Formats: sequence, structure tokens, C-alpha cells
Amino acid sequence: MKTYIVGNWKLNFNVGESSIYLHKLQKKIPICRNVEVVIAPSTIALQPLSLQIDRHKMKLAAQNAFYRDYGAFTGETSFTQLRGVVDYCIIGHSERRYIFDEDDKMIEKKVAAAVRNKITPILCIGETESERAFGETADVIRDQLLGGLRDVSEEDIDKVIIAYEPVWAISSTKAAKYASPYDVADAIKLIRSTIEELYDKKVAEELPVLFGGSVNPSNAGGYLTVPGVNGLLMGGSSLILSEFVDIIDIAKRVKS
Ligand code: PEP
Repeated sequence: MKTYIVGNWKLNFNVGESSIYLHKLQKKIPICRNVEVVIAPSTIALQPLSLQIDRHKMKLAAQNAFYRDYGAFTGETSFTQLRGVVDYCIIGHSERRYIFDEDDKMIEKKVAAAVRNKITPILCIGETESERAFGETADVIRDQLLGGLRDVSEEDIDKVIIAYEPVWAISSTKAAKYASPYDVADAIKLIRSTIEELYDKKVAEELPVLFGGSVNPSNAGGYLTVPGVNGLLMGGSSLILSEFVDIIDIAKRVKS
């Protein structure tokens, strides 16, 4: 199975900066069939970067999109418009859930719209600090999976990626901490057993599951060796070219 290294640039870099970063990144990394490198710039940079990107080396992801294909939805971008521009879309990121109030119903529709438009959804799930403190981690993971995947058929589930991102470990939250490999291993097991219940054992084994939460070059190798982790999703480290390149190298070594 491929290893995914996904960089979420969030609201950083203008179009020119994004283009320069991509230019440098493409020079630094060779084509590698086992590691799928994905960058998620701001929506405004997607179209120009889609003309510049070497798709043999890496792919583009949107950070968000709306579930309706067209119509009176001022300010939104549809998956239909992103078709041919990106290969992936991050959906259900905790910043979308908690800053923009996206609930499981909205996320379910976005996942379905992505699949319908042949864009691979990277469905983010994970508990907050207080949910963890109240022992609700397992329930949250289960509920977010059931919610997000409600409209994904057995036929389409192989077009979905899950990213486990405990909100308390994401560096944009005030008091981010590092998740231990044990925390990650437990969550990944739960994700796969829930997927087995919803679909079957083969699907559960083959579904790519990523980890995200303050990943950096010092801890990336550790997370990548947790059983069942098929890649990493990162924010902060993807903004620093040298760190992102290091993490891609680590992924190549650990998973080769
Ligand atoms: C994220 O926002 O998805 C993320 C994992 O961010 P960071 O790597 O900065 O914690």
C-alpha cells in the first residue's frame, strides 16, 4: 500500500509564494511510486498550481469544497469545479468542524459529493481535549466515521482516505500536545474495526488511514511505524520546505 504524505497549508502563502514553494519542492524530490505526496494550498492557488505541478511527483488537494455542484451558493467552490484540478480534498478538518460549525450531516454530503466528482476525500476525524478527558474518544471516532461515510457505498469505499487527527494534538489549538504512538495505535484499531462493521474485513485492512497532529521530522518516523498507519497529514511542518522534504524522505525509508 502507498504511504501518503499530505501537507495542509491552511490560510498561508499567496499564489506567488505557493508557486515558488512548489517549484522548489519539485526540484528536491524524485518520483517515488510508494509515497504519494499531496499538497493542499488555498483555493485561489489551486488552478495555477494545477498547471505547474508534476503529477508524477505529487498531487493537489483542496482544503474544502461545497457539496452542491452549482447554484446560488455565494462564495462557495464546488467539487465539480475542482474536477480535473485536484485529486484529493480534505473534508471534516477540525477547523471546519469547530470554527465553521460543520456537522456530520454537512460532512456526509461533502464526502459523497467528492466521490461523485471522482475526487478522493481525506475524511478527518478526531476527538477534542474535553471529549478525551471525559473518555469519549471511541464514541467520537465511531460517530464521525458513521456520519461521514453514511452515503459511501461498498463500491466506493476504496476511494476514501481517513485521517485520524486528535484535535488536542493539532498545533493550531492553544495547548497542543503530542499524541503517543499508543494513542494513535488504539485509535487506528478502532477505526479499522468500525470500518469492518460498516463494510468488511478486506475493506478495513485496505483503507488508507493517516495520522495528523503536530507531526515533524523528529516524530514522523515513530508515527509511521505504528501498525496500520498509512501516512501523515500535517499543517505546520508542511509550511517549512526543509521539514516537509525530510518527512517525505523518512516516509520513503520507513515504508521501503
Ligand atoms: C492539521 O491541521 O491537520 C495538522 C495536523 O496541523 P499540525 O501539523 O500543524 O498539527
